[in-house]
Amino acid sequence: MDNHATTQLDPRVLEAMLPYLTQDFGNPASTDHVYGAKAADAVERSREQLAKTINASAHEIIITSGATEADNLAIQGIARTRSAEGGHIITCTTEHKAVLDPLRYLASQGWVVTYVPVDSYGIIDLDRLESSITDRTILISVMFANNEIGTIAPMAEIGRIAKEHGVLFHTDAAQAVGHIPVDVQALRIDLMSISAHKAYGPKGVGALYVRSHNPRVKVAPILLGGGQERGLRSGTLNVPSIIGMGEAFEIARREMTQEADRLAGWTRKMRERFENSAGAELNGHPFNRLPHNLNMYFPGVESKALIQSVRSQVAISASSACTTEEVEPSYVILALGYGPERAHSSIRFGLGRFNIEDEVNLVMQSVDTATNRLRSIGVRNEVISANVN
Ligand SMILES: *Cc1c(COP(=O)(O)O)cnc(C)c1O
Repeated sequence: MDNHATTQLDPRVLEAMLPYLTQDFGNPASTDHVYGAKAADAVERSREQLAKTINASAHEIIITSGATEADNLAIQGIARTRSAEGGHIITCTTEHKAVLDPLRYLASQGWVVTYVPVDSYGIIDLDRLESSITDRTILISVMFANNEIGTIAPMAEIGRIAKEHGVLFHTDAAQAVGHIPVDVQALRIDLMSISAHKAYGPKGVGALYVRSHNPRVKVAPILLGGGQERGLRSGTLNVPSIIGMGEAFEIARREMTQEADRLAGWTRKMRERFENSAGAELNGHPFNRLPHNLNMYFPGVESKALIQSVRSQVAISASSACTTEEVEPSYVILALGYGPERAHSSIRFGLGRFNIEDEVNLVMQSVDTATNRLRSIGVRNEVISANVN
């Protein structure tokens, strides 16, 4: 139940990939012969499958190694189209490091970055967002759905504000595409980062959507070389993974509604159970949230200890997996306005396509048992230290 960190490759995706790992091994840039032509056709089909999932055109999809690279291409690529004197970019305090770190780099190079706060549900303050815009603002970057607390941003409103002020709108949609409906036209998104492995595709592949008209968005490459992907991302395409990504998003598009309903039913059930049995509280928005995400605060229970207690049967995490080594409390929970105690006692459950109801029941049972045990130890410790004193 840690499907926000990554997901299992769907067997149907593997099936689609296999021929391109064996006999159909051509380089899609070598179209003088049938090997290359076949690979090129397959890549274009995948591009179309992905484009259809987000209501874009195939030529607006730039294939990358994942959402991290797409975030970097969007942010650094937009910055590089501007003159050396820099400019202003607006983002949000709860963004992924793949957005925050390139922005911090730009800030070190003289760019001005505004971090707009969120409310206690993780929703960006739209008034602050709009009033932060200046003559020098060129980009707003706000994630579609948060990878820790599952809150879905008010994308249509942000798109409207960006458009009204003539500012480009980038979103990191790694947790959204393939899980909830995403329409770049309706939401007026100009650039969007996508990852395959968060939606039952292979790791190490993703894409950046770059709007081609209304406006035509100009991005400068950060990888230079063979000129693949219209010069925006050089390097021989990872054909089998790209085929897998196309298939993964095609499946997601067909099965999204049913899957979201099933997983939302389970996360609702788990939430009610933990509220009643463990006195837990929800982190994130009560209904503007990813159907498969549940993030809960267990008062008086260290999340590290809880994860350890259930580790032999259940895989859950405290927050983002992307910075596993750090012992710092989640900056996302802190950004909601809570103290470190809540950040150290919160657990993220990420349900996935391959979870079954028995597992949901097992997780509820084992987390309940563990919280009770950890609390009784905690109480005993307090009693002991009280006696000593
Ligand atoms: C996983 C994730 C990323 C990184 O994606 P990769 O494809 O692993 O590089 C970026 N942003 C968000 C919100 C994510 O959840």
